[in-house]
Amino acid sequence: MAMKSDIQIAREASKKPIQEIGEKLGIPSDELLPYGHDKAKVSQKFINQVRGNKDGKLILVTSINPTPAGEGKSTTTVGLVDGLNRIGKKAAVCIREASLGPNFGMKGGAAGGGYAQVVPMDDMNLHFTGDFHAITSAHNLLAAMIDNHIYWGNSLEIDTRRVTWRRVIDMNDRALRQITASLGGVSNGFPREAGFDITVASEVMAILCLANDLKDLQERLGAMIVAYRRDKSPVYARDIKADGAMTVLLKDAMQPNLVQTLENNPAFVHGGPFANIAHGCNSVIATTTALKLADYVVTEAGFGADLGAEKFMDIKCRKAGLHPAVVVLVATVRAMKMNGGLGKNELDHEDVEAVKKGCPNLGRHIENVKSFGVPVVVALNHFVHDTEAEIQAVKDYVKTMGAEAIVSKHWAQGGEGAVDLATRVAEVADEDPGNFSPIYPDDMGLFQKIETIAKRIYRADEVLADQKIRNQLKEWEEQGYGNLPICMAKTQYSFTTDPNRRGAPTGFGVPVREVRLSAGAGFVVVICGEIMTMPGLPSVPSAVNIKLDANGDIEGLS
Ligand code: ADP
Repeated sequence: MAMKSDIQIAREASKKPIQEIGEKLGIPSDELLPYGHDKAKVSQKFINQVRGNKDGKLILVTSINPTPAGEGKSTTTVGLVDGLNRIGKKAAVCIREASLGPNFGMKGGAAGGGYAQVVPMDDMNLHFTGDFHAITSAHNLLAAMIDNHIYWGNSLEIDTRRVTWRRVIDMNDRALRQITASLGGVSNGFPREAGFDITVASEVMAILCLANDLKDLQERLGAMIVAYRRDKSPVYARDIKADGAMTVLLKDAMQPNLVQTLENNPAFVHGGPFANIAHGCNSVIATTTALKLADYVVTEAGFGADLGAEKFMDIKCRKAGLHPAVVVLVATVRAMKMNGGLGKNELDHEDVEAVKKGCPNLGRHIENVKSFGVPVVVALNHFVHDTEAEIQAVKDYVKTMGAEAIVSKHWAQGGEGAVDLATRVAEVADEDPGNFSPIYPDDMGLFQKIETIAKRIYRADEVLADQKIRNQLKEWEEQGYGNLPICMAKTQYSFTTDPNRRGAPTGFGVPVREVRLSAGAGFVVVICGEIMTMPGLPSVPSAVNIKLDANGDIEGLS
């Protein structure tokens, strides 16, 4: 029988009213702010009330260096929660919201796949509860206020060539990457170069996801650098006096969204920062709230473990005082083969040697995660073409690395297929000795922090950076930003900065092209390689095939 598409399965889900899902976590129905019947925000009042509760166990799902199709991190996150609930545990999902733009390009949403999904999928991939629109509005309000400030006399003496605050829209639109703004004469202001990023790349998004509460949100928004003067001194959002109004626009968006898995288990879907120039995890407020309400909270970090898990631990956990009890490292036989040198079209036949050749990639990630003091369980996300011999090869290898690989069939079978994985993960989480620590201290120099990540996680020999970049880092240290963590932006396909070098390469350097200060979010972005903050659409975008059918249902959405 042919497998149904993700959207077909999602549409056939028997969803429960959102109040029943809230009830599973002890959220009274009047503390849920419903958006229709199957989505709700959890009230700020309730979040404040449960702050004193004991925390459940935090479980992070991450992966090996992925193949272009993705390895099934979201699918495994959802399947694991359904598996945990099947074995009688009170577990909840915490994942990111999907960006609207990419849905109409190539890659669709982020709600899992097969029989391990979060629903309502269509809504989550479209406007959902409007959080991203609120972020777009808050971001662009600040942009409008900056140009308005310049128009009315520029008392802050902003150098119009050095306005760093761009505009955002939640759409893939390459035509907007670089624009000239304020054309058309005296009444339209002072012409200057500007541009757009996609909403998920906004610093406002990163801030919403890292803020502990509304007060913290406003302080961080105020601390964002928006421009420089001729003497290169920074101008902050609070100098423009935009932080108060931006917080008002974001007030509702700060409340986490509750939806459900196909098996009617609770899922918090909230926030969605880019995983390169930002930290790529769902919001701190959703994670901390979920931990107060469930015994096990399964969350996900974007990209492979070298980027996603590292940032989760060194940025999110450090800042929010969180500590993962166990990391679930998702691997697939297919990705092992690709890391072992096979091409995209050579994955559907048995090749045990290629699997073995690719395993050192997995091995390095296992070692890396352990170096944070957190135990690892490998989830082998099962694909139909995987053979017994290939699976055994991965299991044997993982054993030599002092961990255990468990085959999981949640994509095809839902929670039932993830019972083995869930059982082991719960055991390991319960035994958590609590040894977690980030891999560098706050007070290490910024360049030394970059070196620590490059050498200990990527296994590079050195970090290559011009004097200009080193001086910039020194300057930020002198200005009081030296205690910030690092947010690496590099390819997710390799430990190196070259996406074609798969496996576990050695003997390479990490060239740093640029550094940026996200003073409000609270990290220094280190850019290694090409980073796109406004994607384009492919020659035939998926939008061409998206339409409503005769019943008014959406066709063509992932
Ligand atoms: P990631 O979070 O790693 O990017 P996702 O969980 O979003 O990956 O999955 C990417 C795609 O792969 C989805 O369309 C999903 O349906 C599909 N997928 C995931 N696991 C499997 C599997 N075991 N077999 C077939 N397809 C899968």
